[in-house]
Amino acid sequence: MTSSVSSPLKEEGVISSPAETDLRDLWMRTLELLEPQIQRSQFLTWFRDTAILSREGTKLIIGLPLPMCLQWHMEHYRTPTFDCVKQLDESIDQIVYVVDGTLKDTPTRTVNLIEHFPEQKKRKLPGRQEVKLAEGIVSKILSPRYMLENFVVGSSNRLAHAACQAVAAAPGGKYNPLFLYGGVGLGKTHLLQATGNAILRQIPKATVVYTTSEDFTNQVVEAIRTQRMEQLRARYRRVDALIIDDVQFLTNKERTQEEFFHTFNTLYEERKQIIISADRPPTELLLEDRLISRFERGMIADVGVPDYETRLAILVEKARDYQLFLDMKVLQFIAEHTTRNVRELEGILMQAVALYELEQSMPTVKSIADIMRKLNKDPHDKEEDAPGFEPPVVRKATFQDVLETTSAYYSVSVQDMMGASRVREVLMPRQIAMFLGKKHLSLSFVRLGEIFSNRDHTTVMHAVEKIEKQMQNDPQLLREIRALEREIGISR
Ligand code: ADP
Ligand code: MG
Repeated sequence: MTSSVSSPLKEEGVISSPAETDLRDLWMRTLELLEPQIQRSQFLTWFRDTAILSREGTKLIIGLPLPMCLQWHMEHYRTPTFDCVKQLDESIDQIVYVVDGTLKDTPTRTVNLIEHFPEQKKRKLPGRQEVKLAEGIVSKILSPRYMLENFVVGSSNRLAHAACQAVAAAPGGKYNPLFLYGGVGLGKTHLLQATGNAILRQIPKATVVYTTSEDFTNQVVEAIRTQRMEQLRARYRRVDALIIDDVQFLTNKERTQEEFFHTFNTLYEERKQIIISADRPPTELLLEDRLISRFERGMIADVGVPDYETRLAILVEKARDYQLFLDMKVLQFIAEHTTRNVRELEGILMQAVALYELEQSMPTVKSIADIMRKLNKDPHDKEEDAPGFEPPVVRKATFQDVLETTSAYYSVSVQDMMGASRVREVLMPRQIAMFLGKKHLSLSFVRLGEIFSNRDHTTVMHAVEKIEKQMQNDPQLLREIRALEREIGISR
């Protein structure tokens, strides 16, 4: 039905029989039919600066601005384009693509997509973030993007993924509760939501509630305020699967922990599935012991930092998701130099997409290296041309990392940690941060004193000694410090 020519078409001498405006009009109406079938960003990318160049009998010659568009159109848009053209003009029985580099500079021949296909007003439906499942039961919407099938499995997450699959196949069965833990951006939320989606696919009538611990806390607070605690409890009792993301944020929220404990027990006894995630294993959580021991009853799996091969596989998968053709070398480069987490990996990929869309240039190893340098992801990168295949660059932790991680871990603000307060909740994290700064970053007592609101260096010295001593006798503290070291990336 079609063929393709990749050399620029010489327009001179081709006298198109229908007037150019007719061709433009035909293309316009073709695009109108195509547009709803194609994701907007794809449409804007691939149909920019395209046109019907001419018509030769029953054959339409479609012009593309760049050589690299050719294969893409042939593979993805040829059939739908042909179908749409055919709808508009029965007599056409062939479309042919040619590359015409001048299209970019002659807007009179092409269609201004942004102008003719303005973005639909964003529909902001209140409650779009949530669904009402049954009387009074709300869940955050499960994103259909997250599926167990598009989660890339490697040694860092194999167990967690397998556990999710098992739970999806038999909710409330052997793996109850399921507890997933791991650092930021490694795929916990993806797995949790994917499992929720999979349960719903299998049992469409199931009441699956996905919520974050912040959200759960808000519900409890609201119920207390309106004296509707009983109703809240009753509601949660009717849930078939309860998924709570990031339970570390329940730290210091005693009342919410208590409510969760009761809800947990009720659901557990009725063999309803419970899935929980956190940034650390149960034993390292700063929650009530009875809650921790409940978490330990079921299946615990960690989600770790993916190795190089897994990172590369994730990138290939995401690039395909965005319908982005990237040179394997570029993907390899990103995978090699982005080692901390998957979100960062995706971030760089999105930058590559933006670069491509804005500048119409295919990302190269060099352009990616530039992006990474700008994002300060890769300060160790050397010469312009150096980006090749060096061993992964491990970013060195800074004291800022120590401060931020410690403050997040203990749910106190960085300001409080640096400030004057001497309440225990603040004092302890402050001393731990001092200890970590001294031990791992070799900061001097004097320097640390300066950082912490100009404290005397002897104060810092005592703090560090105190933590060192206490670690010997307090296994819980030891675990916490190990967890912090791991998180900051300074464990040995
Ligand atoms: P977390 O909840 O652990 O902070 P997320 O689940 O939000 O991390 O993951 C961050 C991003 O990385 C998401 O877009 C997710 O889809 C993606 N991601 C993480 N791990 C994988 C994987 N193994 N396969 C595919 N995508 C992944
Ligand atoms: Mg998450």
